[in-house]
Amino acid sequence: MNLELSEDQRAIQRLVREVAREELLPRIQALDREERFDPWVVRRLGELGLLGLCLPRRYQGGGLDYLSLALACEELEYVDSSFREILSVHTALVGLTLLQWAGPEQKERFLPPLATGQKIAAFGLTEPGAGSDVAALESRYRQEGETFVLSGEKVWISLADVADLFLVFARREPGRDPGAISAFLLERGMEGLETYTLRDKLGLRAANTGGIRMREVRVPAANLVGLEGEGFKIAMSALDNGRLTVAAGATGMIRACLDASVAYARERQAFGKPIAHHQLVQEMIARMVDGYETSRLLYAWAASLKNQGRRCTRETSLAKLHACEAAFRAAADAVEIHGAAGFSDAFPVGRHLRNVLGERIYEGTREIHLLIQAGYALGLREDRPLRCSLPPWPFPEDEEAGPR
Ligand SMILES: Cc1cc2nc3c(=O)[nH]c(=O)nc-3n(C[C@H](O)[C@H](O)[C@H](O)COP(=O)(O)OP(=O)(O)OC[C@H]3O[C@@H](n4cnc5c(N)ncnc54)[C@H](O)[C@@H]3O)c2cc1C
Repeated sequence: MNLELSEDQRAIQRLVREVAREELLPRIQALDREERFDPWVVRRLGELGLLGLCLPRRYQGGGLDYLSLALACEELEYVDSSFREILSVHTALVGLTLLQWAGPEQKERFLPPLATGQKIAAFGLTEPGAGSDVAALESRYRQEGETFVLSGEKVWISLADVADLFLVFARREPGRDPGAISAFLLERGMEGLETYTLRDKLGLRAANTGGIRMREVRVPAANLVGLEGEGFKIAMSALDNGRLTVAAGATGMIRACLDASVAYARERQAFGKPIAHHQLVQEMIARMVDGYETSRLLYAWAASLKNQGRRCTRETSLAKLHACEAAFRAAADAVEIHGAAGFSDAFPVGRHLRNVLGERIYEGTREIHLLIQAGYALGLREDRPLRCSLPPWPFPEDEEAGPR
């Protein structure tokens, strides 16, 4: 694994860092206070080419690699998780999943508007009775000729109320058979499809989170993703991509907590000296450094495996678990270092702490990732080859088109 960033990777890191600090940072406090998703943000990310940065140029994406996506996520979450979440859902959970599983016509039809931000996508897996236990999902579908008819409800769906396209999962028969689950692309405007926004969230308040109601939604067969019965595998492979972005984002949060804590500890005086000179404060700073550097290595490792076209469920799960736990501790320690000031929103650290509580839940809770890791270690879990894999980078389609 090469730890040196390429010129393209450094360029994307610089661009997102600059935009995040100059354009997003000045807005976040008000958005968080007012619990408001700002559609300008998603438009701006689209204008900058970030929504499709790691989709092939053939589909109007940026043609960059998976590490570039992760680096962008780290920079966005340095300001706030709500901004990073847009790339996690739109680009990783949906865009990359379509790149992996959609048929050639579906890719030509759906990827360009996603890559350019003309259309925004959401990922609808979770239901009122099925979160960690995905196989328990109850949304149903039946086939009528060339049409699938879907009914059910999805909850806690990021971007639900602002998306145009929804990758949702439903089962053909009742029960728990994962092989009865299929994946469909629903489009806003389809009759029977309704979305709403959830209010009063503890964190991620500048993100849109909501629900999707499906009442006899008629979906053309051309919108079935993968083969019938492949929905569970598609959902799990989508999470492999999403978790890379959550891990990278959490790494950015740790860096934000570290920078804020270092600045505050140098300034704030207690017992006649800056608190930076008290060793118990130094211990918390050192833990943040440790969390940041190890999280960065883990997400870079997972991204490098993706670039090689290798399946990396174990590595992305570990990166997500480690970075979210380290970010949780970093945010809690950062609030502590700031004392009472950290308990207000005059400093960003309290917001990071509220946000990380959400990150520890989605794309697999801490407990689910511990079970995954134990499963691999104990030989209780193994990855079987999938019918469709995420393409290695450079993308074969772009290789044919010549140099960038
Ligand atoms: C802000 C936010 C955004 C989200 N965005 C999306 C989205 O875009 N799309 C989407 O589909 N979902 C989304 N989710 C939903 C998220 O993926 C689920 O909340 C998550 O999978 C956990 O499911 P649950 O909330 O039903 O908790 P449950 O599954 O009910 O778990 C409750 C508790 O039990 C524990 N637990 C469950 N099973 C086990 C076990 N076998 N062993 C040990 N402990 C266990 C869990 O770890 C957890 O601590 C989002 C959630 C949040 C908070």
